[in-house]
Amino acid sequence: MSKLYQAGKIGTLEIRNRMVMTAMHLSYCPTGEVEEQMIGFYRARARGGVGLIIVGGMGLDPLRVNQKGMVQIHEDRFIEGLKKLTTAVHEEGAKIFPQLFHAGRYARSAEYGGLQPVSASAIASRFTGEMPQALTEQEIKDIVMFFAKAAKRAQLAGFDGVEVTGNSGYLIAQFLSPITNQRTDRYGGDLEGRLTFPLEVVQGIRAEVGADFPIMFRLGGNDFIPGGNTQEEARAICRSLEKAGVDAIDVTGGWHESRVPQITMDVPGGGFRYLGKNIKSAVSIPVLMCNRWNPRLAEDLIDSGDADFVGLARANIADPEVSNKAMQGDYEGIRPCVGCNQGCLDNVLFGKTLSCLVNAEVGREWELVDGGLRNTQTKSCHPQKILVVGAGVAGLEYARVAATLGHQVTIWEEKAAPGGQTVAASIPPGRQDYRRLIDYLQCAVQRLKVEVVYGKKASLENIKTSVQAKLYERIVVATGAIPGAPSIDIFDGVQVLQATEVLEKRLTTGAKVVILGAGGVGIETALFLAESGTLSAQMLRFLMIHQAETPETLYRLITQGNKEVTVVDLEKGKGKDLGPTTRSVLLSMANKYGVNILEKTKAIQVGLQGVLIENSEGERWLSADTVIFAEKSLANNDLYTELVGTVESLDKIGDAVKPGNMQSAIQQAYQAARAI
Ligand code: SF4
Repeated sequence: MSKLYQAGKIGTLEIRNRMVMTAMHLSYCPTGEVEEQMIGFYRARARGGVGLIIVGGMGLDPLRVNQKGMVQIHEDRFIEGLKKLTTAVHEEGAKIFPQLFHAGRYARSAEYGGLQPVSASAIASRFTGEMPQALTEQEIKDIVMFFAKAAKRAQLAGFDGVEVTGNSGYLIAQFLSPITNQRTDRYGGDLEGRLTFPLEVVQGIRAEVGADFPIMFRLGGNDFIPGGNTQEEARAICRSLEKAGVDAIDVTGGWHESRVPQITMDVPGGGFRYLGKNIKSAVSIPVLMCNRWNPRLAEDLIDSGDADFVGLARANIADPEVSNKAMQGDYEGIRPCVGCNQGCLDNVLFGKTLSCLVNAEVGREWELVDGGLRNTQTKSCHPQKILVVGAGVAGLEYARVAATLGHQVTIWEEKAAPGGQTVAASIPPGRQDYRRLIDYLQCAVQRLKVEVVYGKKASLENIKTSVQAKLYERIVVATGAIPGAPSIDIFDGVQVLQATEVLEKRLTTGAKVVILGAGGVGIETALFLAESGTLSAQMLRFLMIHQAETPETLYRLITQGNKEVTVVDLEKGKGKDLGPTTRSVLLSMANKYGVNILEKTKAIQVGLQGVLIENSEGERWLSADTVIFAEKSLANNDLYTELVGTVESLDKIGDAVKPGNMQSAIQQAYQAARAI
C-alpha cells in the first residue's frame, strides 16, 4: 500500500493518512460563527477518510473583521461554535487545524466595513487596486498578539494544531517580500529583517499554546512575482521557521497577483511538485505539497519522499469520499475536480458561497440524508422506468441520481459516445479535465446498470411506441443546445464553420481565421487554433535538454503557430461567460499567442474578402480564409415540444431548457432527478 494511506506525524500529532484537505474559504458563516452548513460540509469530508482538515482562513484581527461569510476566531465567544466543528470532525476520525488568516493589503475595504487595508508598506495591490496603510510598530505587535490569542482559542476549541497563512500575498507574505516590504525599521531590509514579523508570530503562538501543539506554516515555494522571493529565499525562510519551532511547512505556489496560474485547469496535475521537493531538501520537518493533486498522482509524490503530506482541497470538495475511494483503489469512482474554479474560488472571491460544478450536493450536506446522496439512502417507493434522451453531462447526471434512487434508467444517445457539448469543451488547450467528468459520469451510470444505447436517435414516433409498449413511464429530454443560426449575411467565397465543428470534428481551417463571438467558446476556439503549428511539448523538452535554442527562440516557437486568428464581438467584455480566474488565464494566453480580439465591433457580412466589420474606426474588411461562428447557442428542444401532450410524465433538463453553463446543467439535472 502506498505510504499516502499510512499514518504520518506533524510534531507529536499522529494523522491517519497523508491526505490533507487544505484551507478553502467557504463563505458559509455570515455572522462569523460556525454554522450547521459548515459542520455538515466538513463532517462529510472527515467521514470520507481525509487525514487532516485545515479550516479557514479564519479571521483573527478584531479591528478588521471580514464581513463576507468568513469564519472568525478573533474573540473568545467563537470558541463554543468552533468546538462543535472540531467535535464533528474528530467523531469521524480526522484531525483539524484552523488556518489563521490576515489578508493585509489583500483586504477589500468594502468587505472590511470600509476600513483601509494594512500592510508592511504603503504599496498599492494589483489584486485589489487599493492602497494600504503601513503598519506602525505598535500595530505590528498587536497583530502578533492577535495571532497568538487566536491560536490559544483554537487549542481551547479542540483543534489539533494551527496553520499560519504566510502564502499567496497575504499579510505575512507582504512582510516577507522585498516588493511589498520597504520598511527601514527592524521589520524590513534584508531577508533576516523581513522575517522578523513572521518569526514573532510563530514565537507568540508557541508561547500561548505550549511545546506540543503543532504549528504549520503555509508558504509559496516561489512567489512568482518579479523581484519577489524565489525558491532560494523560500528555502532560507523555511530553515528559519524550523529553527523557530514550526512543525511543518505547507508549500503552495505564488501570489494572487502573480501572472503564473496556480490552480486553474491548465496547470498540469502535480506540476508544482518541484517546489515542495526544494523545501523538503532544506528542512527536516514534514512538508505538505499543494496545487492540482489527485490521489493517484499523490501516491508517487509521497512514496518518492518528495513530500510527506499532500493537499487535496478541491478534490475533497468535488468528492467528499475521495480519500476512502482512493484507499480502496477505486480511482474510477472518484468524482473528479476538473479545476474549473467556477463553483469554488470564483464564487468565494466575489462574495458568494462555495459550491461545485461537478457536485450539486456541496453546501447541502447538513440537510441531506447521511451527508449526501448514497446508495444506502432509502430508495424510491415507486421506482419508475425512465428514458433519458441525450448522454451529455445533464443526461448522465440525471441518470446517475435517478438510478441511485432506485429507478430503472435507459439513455438514448444519438452519437456514438457520451459527453454532448462537454466533448468540444474539453478540446482547447488546458481544458482537458472536462474529459475526466465525462469519464466519471459514464462509469457511474454503468455501475448503476443504466442502459446506454448509442447511435439511437429519438423521435416522436419511437418514443410514443416505447411508451405505449410500457417500456418507459417517464421521458426526460436532455438534448442540449445547438449553435444559433449565423446572424449576418453570408456570401460565397470563404469557408464558414461553427466552433463546435472545429473543436469536436477537428475540421481543418485556413491560415487566416476570424471568429465571431468573444465568449468562452470563441476564446477557447481561438486558443485551439492559435496553438496549431507551435512546438510540441516533447520537442520543447528535447531542444531544452540539448540547449539547442535560446529561451527567446523557444518562447517564439511555442507561441507562434501557423494561423492568424482574430476574434470579433459587438460587445465589450471578452470571455465574460467564463469564471474570473479562468478568464484571466485564457485571455493572457490569447495575448501570448497573438490572438487579436476586437470588441465593440460589428460584423456586417461574410464575403469573398473575409468579414466586413464596423467599429469606432469605421468600416473595413478583415481578410479571412475561414469564418467561425461562436455565438450564443439555442436550446435544442424540438423533440420536447413534439412530445408535449403525448407523454404524461415528461421533463426537460440542462441546456434543452435554456443554454447555460455546465454547473447549472448539472445542478438542474440533479434537482430534477431528486424531484421524481
Ligand atoms: Fe473543482 Fe470546479 Fe468543483 Fe471547484 S467547482 S472543486 S474547481 S470541480
